[in-house]
Amino acid sequence: MNKLNIGIVGGGAAGFFSAIEIASSNPSYHITIIEKSDKLLSKVKASGGGRCNVTNACFEVEELINNYSRGSKELKSVFHKFNPADTINWFESKGVKLKIENDNRVFPASNNSETVVNCFLQQAKKYNIEIIKNYSVNNITKTLEGFIVNPNSKFSIPFDKLIVATGGNSKPEFYSMFEKLGHTIVSPVPSLFTFNIDEHPLKGLEGISLDKVKVRIKDTKLVYKDAILITHWGFSGPVILKLSAFGARIINHMNYNLKIDINWIPEIDDINKELFKIKTNFPNQKTSSHTYFNLPLRLWKRLVELAGINEDLKWTETSKKKLQYLSDVLTGNNFNVKGKTTFKEEFVTAGGVSLKEIDFNTMESKICNGLYFIGEVLDIDGITGGFNFQSAWSTAFIAAKGITKR
Ligand SMILES: Cc1cc2nc3c(=O)[nH]c(=O)nc-3n(C[C@H](O)[C@H](O)[C@H](O)COP(=O)(O)OP(=O)(O)OC[C@H]3O[C@@H](n4cnc5c(N)ncnc54)[C@H](O)[C@@H]3O)c2cc1C
Repeated sequence: MNKLNIGIVGGGAAGFFSAIEIASSNPSYHITIIEKSDKLLSKVKASGGGRCNVTNACFEVEELINNYSRGSKELKSVFHKFNPADTINWFESKGVKLKIENDNRVFPASNNSETVVNCFLQQAKKYNIEIIKNYSVNNITKTLEGFIVNPNSKFSIPFDKLIVATGGNSKPEFYSMFEKLGHTIVSPVPSLFTFNIDEHPLKGLEGISLDKVKVRIKDTKLVYKDAILITHWGFSGPVILKLSAFGARIINHMNYNLKIDINWIPEIDDINKELFKIKTNFPNQKTSSHTYFNLPLRLWKRLVELAGINEDLKWTETSKKKLQYLSDVLTGNNFNVKGKTTFKEEFVTAGGVSLKEIDFNTMESKICNGLYFIGEVLDIDGITGGFNFQSAWSTAFIAAKGITKR
């Protein structure tokens, strides 16, 4: 009775989470995790700079879903059943103490991702979950009884139900085994990257960060207000990562060749009026000797230079035209983006198995009974901050519920 044989393809975040959830609620099931490499949970280990940012302390579902560039609509019902508060409880109930940092990111109190990896490995051992390493699933056949993975190999394995937790993959051909089962694949493109700037006009200012700027991608509707970091090669920081995530597909179409403009002082309503005030109040001060609008002095000096104003010029000597140039640079500084760079090696894939073909009450395929998809293999991805793991845990939880029909 109930001795189901369940296969989980992928020994990563979502795969382990679902295996443990199924096993803990139904110990009689036989669960096998199949991992293509010889390393289990390798992204969990590398994540968060080796600290593993397990989730984000964003507890309102309506707010939480705004952090997903793809999948926010579908994740809404999922998060009502398993959200960051549940994640925190889940890990703490298994002995992993967590801490919430000032920016709401949640990490193990140990500051070490090994704590999370060890938790998963111990739980898997506790529940006798079978683990097969160095076995790459390249083909799946649906049979009357269930599934056979790698049917043409002498090491083919039959399962009653199959959970696919293979993570993101940049190669479209990787997804062909799911296409063969009838699934539609949204073509994979990278998300979460920083912008390379051609002939960087702010060279020498790397390391300067601002809490709030507004960045727009020209000829698109993409515009965000958040913190920015000037880097050696271009721009990084939350505002750029948001643009790269929400604009992943458009930017890919643009071949990573785009124009952006930056408003360095988005909180100032009438910049021309403010510059006129400065000119009136400090007529004999040199334009570059002091900073204004709380901008770092080195950045201010460079922006004045970019506006074509000599650093020795006094405010009283600035023409109306020069002030207009300065106003334009401060509120709409143009840059040419040519290429991208991975953000701290952390990247996710936009695209994957189409969400239209998944029942989000169970994570079961609507096309192929008994087949479940969880984690990044789906067309779901979020911004940095623990949101990508959260969708992996939540979809894994729903699949476990779906399989055990709890
Ligand atoms: C360096 C880095 C740091 C990150 N840091 C964070 C962070 O701190 N917080 C956060 O929220 N997100 C982070 N992310 C994103 C997060 O790691 C992923 O979104 C998450 O791991 C997705 O979980 P998953 O289970 O779907 O896939 P994965 O964790 O990638 O697991 C998939 C597993 O399936 C295996 N596999 C793939 N194909 C096959 C196959 N054909 N047969 C058998 N096995 C297969 C893979 O080898 C892998 O072990 C980071 C990503 C990277 C690259």
